[in-house]
Amino acid sequence: MALPDLHMHTPRCNHATGAPRDYAEAALAAGLKEIGFSEHAPMPNGFDQAWRMSEGEVGDYFAEIRALAAEYRGRLVIRTGIECDFRPQDLGYLEELTRAYDWDYVLGSVHFIGEWGFDNPDELAGWDARDVEEVYLAYYDLVAQAAASGLFDVLAHPDLVKKFGHRCDTARVREAEARMLQAAARAGVALEISSAGLRKPVGEVYPAPRLITQAAKMGIPFAFGSDAHAPADVGHAWQTCRRLLQQAGVREVRSFAQRKPIAHPIA
Ligand code: ZN
Ligand code: FE
Ligand code: FE
Ligand code: ZN
Repeated sequence: MALPDLHMHTPRCNHATGAPRDYAEAALAAGLKEIGFSEHAPMPNGFDQAWRMSEGEVGDYFAEIRALAAEYRGRLVIRTGIECDFRPQDLGYLEELTRAYDWDYVLGSVHFIGEWGFDNPDELAGWDARDVEEVYLAYYDLVAQAAASGLFDVLAHPDLVKKFGHRCDTARVREAEARMLQAAARAGVALEISSAGLRKPVGEVYPAPRLITQAAKMGIPFAFGSDAHAPADVGHAWQTCRRLLQQAGVREVRSFAQRKPIAHPIA
């Protein structure tokens, strides 16, 4: 059975193509039974507005996906989610946004270290000015804080810091990874296994197989996402992701309805 794909975007973020309906049709064509939309949420004071929907659009987005879900009922389960950027200073804003609508689930993402969008191709030069180990440590510390915040159902692409192929595997980084996983385990938040990394310079799923194995041993739940920014990405490499999970001893993945987990066996 195909894995539910809980991570896809819409043109509202200004960097994805295809109407939500096109993603739903692509999901059916790929044999998926369940998907969820997770558009990039607005951030306070219009921060990074070019790459996300505006505050004024959130209501329309929610209604649009709910209507699509009603239309496809019986053929395809469509969940209404959102991808929120975690920054420690935005806790209050995020609490309000996640409570304001009846989301099926909320993805928590770290795309910023301070003001720096480390995964934004336009901000690639920022890597030259920094020490890779320090970037990794700061990144995992933020993901751990996101987990501990309790705001999220899933930690999206939890080692996104490797996206452009910058690698760091020092003892300090491994300790930071372990702290991130401990925070996830304590909070009961799922890790996303994302096929998007396969389409990026790093050429590897998020998170790395070694982290999948560690997380599985700790009993941390998983959810699958393609991070589709075009209909053709929907369900991308779900078989590869399922195999990696199975090899790590994971027996189920999650989807969500009204912030409650639903288990999907993958045996
Ligand atoms: Zn995006
Ligand atoms: Fe993301
Ligand atoms: Fe995304
Ligand atoms: Zn994403």
